[in-house]
Amino acid sequence: MPQVQRSPQVHDVVIIGSGAGGGTAVKVLTDQGINVTLLEAGPMLNPQKDFKEHVWPYEVDNRGAGAAAELYFGRQQWNYFAAPNGYWQVPGEPYTVASGSQWQWFRSRILGGRTNHYGRISLRFSDYDFKAYSFDGLGRDWPVTYDEMSPWYDKAEEFIGVTGTREGLRTAPDGKFLPPIPPRVHETLVQKSCAKLGIPCIPSRMAMLTKSVHGRAACHYCGQCGRGCRTASAFTSSQAMIFPAMKTGKVNIISGAMARELITDGSGKVTAVSYVDKATRTEKQIRCRAVVVAASACESARLLLNSKSPQFPNGLANSSGQVGRNLTDTVGFALSGHIPALEGLPRHNCDGIGGMHVYVPWWELDKKNKEFPRGYHIEIGGGFNMPELGNFHGVAQTQEGYGTPLKDEIRRQYGAHIGLSGRGDMIPNEKTWCEIDPNKVDEYGIPVLRFHFGWTEHEIKQAQHMHQTFTSIIETMGGTVLGPRNPARDGQGISIGGSIIHEAGAVVMGDDPKTSVLNRYCQAHEVKNLFVADAAPFCGNPDKNVTLTIVAMSWRTSEYLAEEMRKGNV
Ligand SMILES: Cc1cc2nc3c(=O)[nH]c(=O)nc-3n(C[C@H](O)[C@H](O)[C@H](O)COP(=O)(O)OP(=O)(O)OC[C@H]3O[C@@H](n4cnc5c(N)ncnc54)[C@H](O)[C@@H]3O)c2cc1C
Ligand code: SF4
Repeated sequence: MPQVQRSPQVHDVVIIGSGAGGGTAVKVLTDQGINVTLLEAGPMLNPQKDFKEHVWPYEVDNRGAGAAAELYFGRQQWNYFAAPNGYWQVPGEPYTVASGSQWQWFRSRILGGRTNHYGRISLRFSDYDFKAYSFDGLGRDWPVTYDEMSPWYDKAEEFIGVTGTREGLRTAPDGKFLPPIPPRVHETLVQKSCAKLGIPCIPSRMAMLTKSVHGRAACHYCGQCGRGCRTASAFTSSQAMIFPAMKTGKVNIISGAMARELITDGSGKVTAVSYVDKATRTEKQIRCRAVVVAASACESARLLLNSKSPQFPNGLANSSGQVGRNLTDTVGFALSGHIPALEGLPRHNCDGIGGMHVYVPWWELDKKNKEFPRGYHIEIGGGFNMPELGNFHGVAQTQEGYGTPLKDEIRRQYGAHIGLSGRGDMIPNEKTWCEIDPNKVDEYGIPVLRFHFGWTEHEIKQAQHMHQTFTSIIETMGGTVLGPRNPARDGQGISIGGSIIHEAGAVVMGDDPKTSVLNRYCQAHEVKNLFVADAAPFCGNPDKNVTLTIVAMSWRTSEYLAEEMRKGNV
């Protein structure tokens, strides 16, 4: 067996992963004067080269369809025009799904992780989300309250920049907002329809800058955020947090470094991180005073489960057996509609930010005798987008014919479709968890995860409610429902687990070490210099997208770690 290369230097803090959680830890710890070493499995990011903002199909080989036109046949891993390195399947890094389960896992391997191309919808969790069990007797309570988290949301929003308006809704707590973006034509029609149905439809809360913040330029409304934003007007942890931290000289980045195991000493503290240097395929170890694991919820669980020792035979910090448990994703259901009032509109620029300008927060919290607990919000799509392959909102595929009449009909129909996507609360359940597959390793020899997943009646009924609501909104607009838009579980319409890319839980926080892995500061109950700073500590998965809470929670965890280091407790 090749020798492991061990560094003699003891690093102050090693952070594993550079996405929303890891990027925040890098920023906050270096701001506090602490030297950090960042291990990132992917390569460095060069936005000028890697981001495809403003690139037209005709400017690239095969119009971006791939060498063998793969994109036309749906075989390309990820849209050519999306910001880099996000995949449903990562070559050489498989995972497995237990028989009877369905699960999809979208991973990213590059500095900044999935923040380079995420949708930037940035919603605070509500007071009842943090106290879910006390609210309705289901799921778990978090060990923190909304009031405790609110100042950290303030810091996160003020730093990353989030648009919005103060609405005073319990289901959509107000924050420190940048000016909102005005609705476009299709969004105005959705708002009118919602008003008739008594459903709120308010300005969206997006991490895109409607004015310059912390040296990042204001958005120029090209609508291309999914391709990456070269002016950093859309939040990424790479551009907004890690690049500025690099200028302080306090961050040492080791890219192409796949963390394999956390090494502990007899006292149960982490003393080193073992990683595979992908370039040389050698194993290296760096020693550290403390470690922040932020490799994304499931990767963090995998790392702990793979870190076995005589003291921790079930995986590091896992005497409770809870590592891998409490896994959740968001409930998803999406419907599209054809709206005759939007047909044949004069061409106009409706770019705006690269996402929705309005959204629907949950509106039936206080309704009695609902068929399902909790609720969902609605994301709205439509309008004219910058063309890319297979675009025109699928209109080209629905029309038949040749020449000018075909083109005229496509032009008439383009922009006449809207999409409504529900994003709902999932309550942790016994059917949903991940573990190490005893029979499979990745190309670096690291054992991989096996997923188990099951929705319960709560979520399935919620998706049925989404179906009814979306149908009402589309029909009240005078439109016709076209059908579900997302890959869905057979016959049920509800999304496949993991496919909404909001996986959370798996290293859960709580006050009781018997039933949780981490304490209220995301510090392992059993290993005082081990912290987790992504969505793994989450005790549930409210209807609000997870990333703003990852940033807020990581900020809080990182300031706590800095203070504990100053006091000599870590
Ligand atoms: C298309 C898309 C749209 C989305 N839209 C939204 C949205 O609108 N709103 C929202 O809130 N969320 C959205 N999300 C989800 C959001 O991207 C994630 O919640 C967020 O990026 C998670 O941050 P993270 O730090 O946990 O992990 P990631 O961003 O996934 O980063 C993890 C990093 O860790 C690295 N890593 C993994 N394992 C190891 C290892 N063993 N050693 C070293 N490094 C490792 C990875 O390479 C990666 O860079 C979306 C995601 C996608 C893909
Ligand atoms: S719409 Fe704004 S934030 Fe998005 S890519 Fe263009 S400039 Fe950047």
